[in-house]
Amino acid sequence: MSRKVYLDNAATTRVKKEVIEEMNNYFDKFYGNPSSQLYELGRKSKEAVEKARRTIAEFLNADEKEIYFTAGGTEADNWALKGVAFANLNKGKNHIITSKIEHHAILNTCKYLEKFGVETTYLDVDKYGLVDLEQLKKAIKPETMLISIMFANNEIGTIQPIEEIGKIAKENKILFHVDGVQALGSVKIDVQKQNIDLLSMSAHKIGGPKGIGALYIRKGTRIDNFVHGGGQERGRRAGTEGVQNIVGFGKAVEIVKRDFDSYLERVTALRDRLIEGIQKNIPHVILNGHPTKRLANNVNFSYKYVEGESILLLLDMEGISASSGSACTSGSLDPSHVLLATGLDHGTAHGSIRFTLNEEITEEDIDYTIETMKKIIEKLRSMSPIKNDEDLKNS
Ligand SMILES: *Cc1c(COP(=O)(O)O)cnc(C)c1O
Repeated sequence: MSRKVYLDNAATTRVKKEVIEEMNNYFDKFYGNPSSQLYELGRKSKEAVEKARRTIAEFLNADEKEIYFTAGGTEADNWALKGVAFANLNKGKNHIITSKIEHHAILNTCKYLEKFGVETTYLDVDKYGLVDLEQLKKAIKPETMLISIMFANNEIGTIQPIEEIGKIAKENKILFHVDGVQALGSVKIDVQKQNIDLLSMSAHKIGGPKGIGALYIRKGTRIDNFVHGGGQERGRRAGTEGVQNIVGFGKAVEIVKRDFDSYLERVTALRDRLIEGIQKNIPHVILNGHPTKRLANNVNFSYKYVEGESILLLLDMEGISASSGSACTSGSLDPSHVLLATGLDHGTAHGSIRFTLNEEITEEDIDYTIETMKKIIEKLRSMSPIKNDEDLKNS
């Protein structure tokens, strides 16, 4: 079988052809340092960086002066949390509210900050992965400096009520950070309408290159600078700009903006075809995440009585790339903290597979995936001792 189906677009995406073409100009043609303003090569690089900044700002309804390039989503998350914490700790504020299902870039940064006296409240989620707004309101204290909630979850695809959370943050004069890495390009982000003060983004999840992202910082936000050195990024994040990466990021956003509606329509239909196909053809499955408030490209199921890692191995042999409920911290066999937070038991969480689609996927790919999954699950269940125990119990 020679079919190759890449269904792990939440992990990373193929860099789009148009993006590569644009980037190629900035390796050996326009290679100047954007800080070298006294000659044309330098000015060309600077212009390219600023054009990308404008494209991204417009897409978010932000001002271009509010976009700061970083080395990716992880760095943007680190900056938002550490920057706000270190700017506020000596002002009598030391409390952060986040959720149990955040990316490790958030959770491990909170853990680090706790060494400096930061206190963190980790909000629960319901079985669909939604945070409870009443619990959020109750968690707010006079010391609360930041609420950090992801726009959409990378594992189960659940989209949070960001506008409502933004309203609560604003009413209580608390900064609001949003990890928008998975939402960018799939959900309409408007930092004004949604009252977002800080937004993390990453290029490689939307057809751009790896190692480049950005943090939106609302004007007037009390936040420390992140990388100390030269005056790049308005003195807040020093280091010679990765011009070719920034150009690639800008181009990726430009394409996302241009194709937004057709992408959503196409990918949502494929997602629903895959969800329905699995539900119809494979018994004892649980759809993880919210049935409707979910990313257009996310399909995550738990398959009772089987191991996710075994499914992945067999999928790989059939040319399908996906990820399991524990692959995020690969090497570790702990089940996903996200699935556990939605109330799954360890065994069920271990039998979970995430498929994340993009616009390159065809209906034939989807049907092939459904058929292959049906075969694999039947095979694994026929060998599963757990299944046999269940059978015994039920007989
Ligand atoms: C991928 C991802 C990140 C990290 O972004 P990188 O650019 O890979 O560092 C952060 N948050 C979420 C939700 C992600 O999906």
